Amino acid sequence: MSPHEAYEELVRRSRERSLLGSCAALLGWDEQTYMPCGGAEHRAAQLALLAGLTHERAIDPRIGELLAIVEGSPLVADPESDAAANVREWRRDYDRATKLPKTLVEELAHATSLGQQVWVEARGAADFGRFQPALETILRLKQQEAACLAGGTPSYDALLDEYEPGMTAETLRPLFDTLRQALVPMIVAISDAPNKPDVSILRRDYPVERQRVFGEMIAAAFGFDFGRGRLDTSAHPFCTDIGPGDCRITTRYNPRDFSDAFYSILHETGHALYEQGLDPAHHGTPLGQAVSLGVHESQSRLWENAVGRSRAFWTYALPLARWVFHNALRDADVDTLYAAVNHVEPSLIRVEADEVTYNLHIIIRFELEQALLSGDLPVGDLPGAWTSKYEQYLNVTPKNDAEGCLQDIHWSAGLFGYFPTYTLGNVYSAQLFDRARADLGDLDALFARGEFAPLLDWLRDKVHRHGRRYTPADLVTRAVGAPPDPGPLLASLSRRLTEVYSVALAR
Ligand code: ZN
Repeated sequence: MSPHEAYEELVRRSRERSLLGSCAALLGWDEQTYMPCGGAEHRAAQLALLAGLTHERAIDPRIGELLAIVEGSPLVADPESDAAANVREWRRDYDRATKLPKTLVEELAHATSLGQQVWVEARGAADFGRFQPALETILRLKQQEAACLAGGTPSYDALLDEYEPGMTAETLRPLFDTLRQALVPMIVAISDAPNKPDVSILRRDYPVERQRVFGEMIAAAFGFDFGRGRLDTSAHPFCTDIGPGDCRITTRYNPRDFSDAFYSILHETGHALYEQGLDPAHHGTPLGQAVSLGVHESQSRLWENAVGRSRAFWTYALPLARWVFHNALRDADVDTLYAAVNHVEPSLIRVEADEVTYNLHIIIRFELEQALLSGDLPVGDLPGAWTSKYEQYLNVTPKNDAEGCLQDIHWSAGLFGYFPTYTLGNVYSAQLFDRARADLGDLDALFARGEFAPLLDWLRDKVHRHGRRYTPADLVTRAVGAPPDPGPLLASLSRRLTEVYSVALAR
């Protein structure tokens, strides 16, 4: 078999795995949106079958043989060529999938499926003790997984690499330390500020159907193609890619809070714009896939926060919002809305946190999960360690484990190394937005006129169309001309807070 034939066979197999994955995605979407609860058991069986088939194909030794034929051939001599990038990423996926012994994969699947059930009960009862044995088992298996992947000593990086290829704790630590050292005093200054935004404007009667209409108007204005996507309702908002012409987002509505659904729609729209911007010619191969969770999150945060919480955006959107909601926004002005959507308040729950305090919730989890994995923090000491970090960084104290270390599903599902990608997304988004502003000029003037296409085109060119051609950090470095750096995020937060709270913030 020639290298060229081997490559074509690898493409065919890659597309087939991707097709299987998209069948699972569609079933998963349906499960969260329209499936009657009676369908749960059958759906679980369908998804388990697909997961098994996908895994079987991912570890097929034939892939290793085909890769061996292509690697080192002239076909991949230019490391920047399409073929070289695809082959490099297939190798990465194949090695990760085959490094883990089958027994470990099965034990992990079992322990995390059980762990999530126990977690639901423990959280309901606000009792960490009930969850502790399950978490100890999961942690032990994750340590084994990390050791297998790293080829010896268990390492946090091996787990992080699953979600953010190439990123290391050593790179993240100073970056997160800088953020923490700047954010903690920023939050203290805001708590002491005499001028607090009036958020009551967001808590009026906002009929659900009108919220949907307004959300769709703005998503379309940002560039979401409703001919290749749709918006539905689910308990937890998400975005899922079904295929090159089919990307779906969801939200949930609160008739007494406008910002809840609206900002989650903008967030998921950002994810969807990335998926809709991937090159359809490469669909089913690494060059047609999103590069990492961190970069994905940078796209959602950019549209949600940098655009959607700007004064210029509301200059454009308020007249439209008034037309849709008339009663609720009768007396609203841009300044009031702008201040309300940017208010900051330290809280206990990550998913309800504002743009500023959110990163501290992540930094706490990043520090704790490293200590858990290394064994420095015994599982039984987690609730105490959790509380002391919340008091230290956010000056709040959980009343019980449910609003403390039991609030997130991640660890019960075995997702260690996942949390830092949220904050990395915030960091990347601010860097990308700064660079776009430098390249495109007065973005505020464009936004105030409802012109978002120049920004989207810029993101398509710098981020979306590349798929997995570069590592995530390389992709961002190429786009902005600098390595990962928390400076732009801190600068933009302090600019906005100075305006909204009328206090002087260092930096
Ligand atoms: Zn997201």
